[in-house]
Amino acid sequence: MTDSYDVVVIGAGPAGYVAAIRCAQLGLKTACVDKWIGPDGKPSLGGTCLNAGCIPSKALLDSTHHYYRLCHQLSSHGITAKEISIDVKTMIERKNKLVKKLTDGIKGLFNSNSISWLQGHGKLLGGMRVEISPSQSSEKPYIVQASNVILATGSRSTNLPIAKVDQNLIVDSTGALSFTEVPKRLGIIGAGVIGLELGTVWRRLGSEVTLLEAQEEFLFMVDPDIAAVARKQFEKQGLNIRLGCRVLQAHPTKKDVIVRYQDKSGEHEFVVDKLLVAAGRYPYTENLFAQETGLLLDQKGFINVDEKLRTNLPNVYAVGDVVRGPMLAHKGSEEGIVVAETIKGHFAEVNYNTIPWVIYTEPEIAWTGKTERELKASGIKYNVGTFPFAASGRAMALEETAGMVKILSDAETDLILGIHIVGSFASELIAEAVLALEYSASSEDLALTIHAHPTMSEAIHEAALAVSKRAIHKVNK
Ligand code: FAD
Ligand code: NAD
Repeated sequence: MTDSYDVVVIGAGPAGYVAAIRCAQLGLKTACVDKWIGPDGKPSLGGTCLNAGCIPSKALLDSTHHYYRLCHQLSSHGITAKEISIDVKTMIERKNKLVKKLTDGIKGLFNSNSISWLQGHGKLLGGMRVEISPSQSSEKPYIVQASNVILATGSRSTNLPIAKVDQNLIVDSTGALSFTEVPKRLGIIGAGVIGLELGTVWRRLGSEVTLLEAQEEFLFMVDPDIAAVARKQFEKQGLNIRLGCRVLQAHPTKKDVIVRYQDKSGEHEFVVDKLLVAAGRYPYTENLFAQETGLLLDQKGFINVDEKLRTNLPNVYAVGDVVRGPMLAHKGSEEGIVVAETIKGHFAEVNYNTIPWVIYTEPEIAWTGKTERELKASGIKYNVGTFPFAASGRAMALEETAGMVKILSDAETDLILGIHIVGSFASELIAEAVLALEYSASSEDLALTIHAHPTMSEAIHEAALAVSKRAIHKVNK
């Protein structure tokens, strides 16, 4: 007999597993299909984020941050150490253990919420049936019946025909999270989020890192003032960022890769030991649905959804990287919750305007709401308040003075429209900014909020005061 469920989720990344848990909490009989196989050959829940994305990259950023600080940044505190070394194998093992702990944690959550984990590839067939092909070829495909289906199959790294990933000399982010030794020379195609985070990891351990970026503008999606501060610091750290580059060919030899590219000044060639391709990600829908279902994708290959995450098929929803919007774990998770509530008949929606972005480099970059460029383009008049960490007592004590907070507020109503931060702990500080936007706060509200002294968060308070030219610890111009 065919098993039937109120909800079948395909994909157990942060969009799918969160949707499944919320559905189960709401009393819906839920199954989640996932096909991820870990490096140990065993199925693993959590999708890209837990297995090969957010978590492993942050684990390596944290390890290398400690190493870099000990090598370069602690002598002014009177702390020196002789013969500092890094054991890359131990660092990678720590990262793998963390991934295992967290992915096992999802398994535990599935068990405690009575969610059926259907291991294997899921395919939506007609008549709200889902076919599951277990990864073990000895097990036969089978079909389950669903009243509702949530598609949450995520994304994959973009392949470039001029730089074919072999996970040896030419790698994608998954490969660059598992190098067993520090590459002497690391080339990176794409100075976006992955390029900068993973470039930072290996640069801190001594790699000569060169990033080739197609765009003329550095971090074009980030506020230009913020991007300029970050770029200066990255270059100080030794990241070689080349903009306006068209990579012509990456040719792997036996032991290295010859990279040819073109920029305004002509053609160039250089040799690297490893090349990371970090040129974006695309929605993953391979063999996800039978043609007979009539599921619609958009021109870029994302599953077409409306503001409630409904596809063109009744009772079929899609969430996470596989639909439009930023490819961020927390965006997918929120969409998963909204769909679960919608299926249960509750009102729910995602506030896309307050989604925080964070780039976990040093300095960190974080923002939420509108950028100045977006406000100018839409003709909205705004005021700006900024405050540099160089004027923050806590930042000085930490010796983390590079960076600033920038607040944009509506010129007429004073409502906060965007907050942009570059500096240490920006990833934590941005939470206050998100809350301010979610609660429709004005810059005056933030200015009236008492912030503990001495903390990095005082820079947010001062930037809010600066909107009306009354910052205390800087000259108001
Ligand atoms: P995924 O996490 O990709 O999960 C989809 C799951 O579906 C996978 O397990 C996949 O195997 C499975 N699947 C696909 N097709 C099928 C099928 N037909 N049948 C069964 N299973 C299927 N985001 C952040 O917010 N913060 C970060 O710090 C961050 N760091 C990142 C670092 C790196 C190196 C990378 C690559 C990404 C990072 N991201 C980060 C992005 C984040 O990982 C994604 O936005 C997030 O994982 C998307 O979640 P998802 O559930 O939509 O898809
Ligand atoms: P990205 O869009 O951030 O950056 C890709 C960069 O590659 C862009 O700047 C693009 O102009 C450039 N590029 C594209 N083709 C190129 C080419 N042929 N030659 C040179 N440059 C080229 O994408 P990503 O860094 O691959 O990351 C993918 C997604 O994963 C991100 O958009 C983000 O949503 C997510 N992610 C998030 C985090 C985080 O939240 N901290 C971390 C990693 C990844």
